[in-house]
Amino acid sequence: MAGHRRKSSISCSPCSALYLHVPFCLQKCPYCSFFSLAGKNHLQPLYVNAISMQIRQTAANHGEKFCRLKTIFFGGGTPTLLPAETLARLLDDCLAAFPVASDRELEISIEANPATVDKNDLAMLRRAGFNRISIGVQSFIDRELALLGRPHTAADARQTLKDARRAGFTNINLDLMYGLPGQKVADWQHNLEQALALAPEHLSLYELTVEENTPFAEQVRRGSLRLPPEDDVLAMLEMTQILVRQAGFRRYEISNYARSGFQCRHNINYWQNRPYIGLGPGAVSCIDNTHYTATKDIEQFAEHITAGKPIWEDEEHLTKEERFRETVIMGLRMIAGVSIPGLRRRFGIDPVAYYGATLDRLIEQGLLRHDNDHLRLSKRGLLLADTVMAELV
Ligand code: SF4
Repeated sequence: MAGHRRKSSISCSPCSALYLHVPFCLQKCPYCSFFSLAGKNHLQPLYVNAISMQIRQTAANHGEKFCRLKTIFFGGGTPTLLPAETLARLLDDCLAAFPVASDRELEISIEANPATVDKNDLAMLRRAGFNRISIGVQSFIDRELALLGRPHTAADARQTLKDARRAGFTNINLDLMYGLPGQKVADWQHNLEQALALAPEHLSLYELTVEENTPFAEQVRRGSLRLPPEDDVLAMLEMTQILVRQAGFRRYEISNYARSGFQCRHNINYWQNRPYIGLGPGAVSCIDNTHYTATKDIEQFAEHITAGKPIWEDEEHLTKEERFRETVIMGLRMIAGVSIPGLRRRFGIDPVAYYGATLDRLIEQGLLRHDNDHLRLSKRGLLLADTVMAELV
């Protein structure tokens, strides 16, 4: 355990979001810093058994912390590396254990890697109740996919989207990355146009960031991998804004775009810094103003769940001020920004008075805007979001 801090007296709202982490991948992508394991499929039965138990234990032991669940998200790793019947059974377990909102209100997402699903799997997942699917496409150029270490082709990704449509998914997200090594502005334009031609409801478009302790970081250090010049990345981002707007999408978060009514409600809950429960090895829960992180060791996770012992490898209590600042930082990721009266109601703190001169300076520098009772990043602030957040953290 680390990072113990004084427990605050802010009131907690009940939890309506559930995240279930599936930590297995076919192979490890060289840019990935998420917690996921390749070559550990033999641990799947142990994992499935333990997480099924964790679902029931969490519902039984912490039921009072939940209102009706409005969002469930199976993420990873690669959830679809598990057999579709297993995923259906785990979703059934969740729906049986927790109180849930009505079908109309309930968003149930799953992340899918095109290399790991076929039309039968997708039909089974849809029948099981998943009503939103996020397909990890990353690129429509096979050369880029090979560089990214992705185990699928562009044709596989197109087929997955078509199969998902036929299976009845009417809420589909495509994940793509730009700013890839060797990528030209025209390559990104091609990727984006291909994505838009498939008419998804949602797009998550992330700039590649080279994370420490990844093979990509090592290759950049050695000089064998070169990211595109900053001007090219800016041009990609500018072009993105134009093309997605023309196609009827609205940007609602730094990297996320949706058609009207298709914003990801699970992620909005997260960006609004509302409580959520995370299940599975390495998953984080945010309840009662505390962040709990489960052990990443699958065998230890299973052993502790079976024995009814705590699984947290980290537990961090946040004070009211820490939670307030966290809420400001995360909320500024949303294009709508953060509501000043909302922050006052939730924390009893006025952000304008709290940040004082720092806020004035960010507004004068044209990075932040203060209008309609909201604080939001300006167009320039969106480009320099990390710098702005560092001032407010
Ligand atoms: S598939 Fe996703 S989670 Fe798995 S290694 Fe690649 S980027 Fe990471």
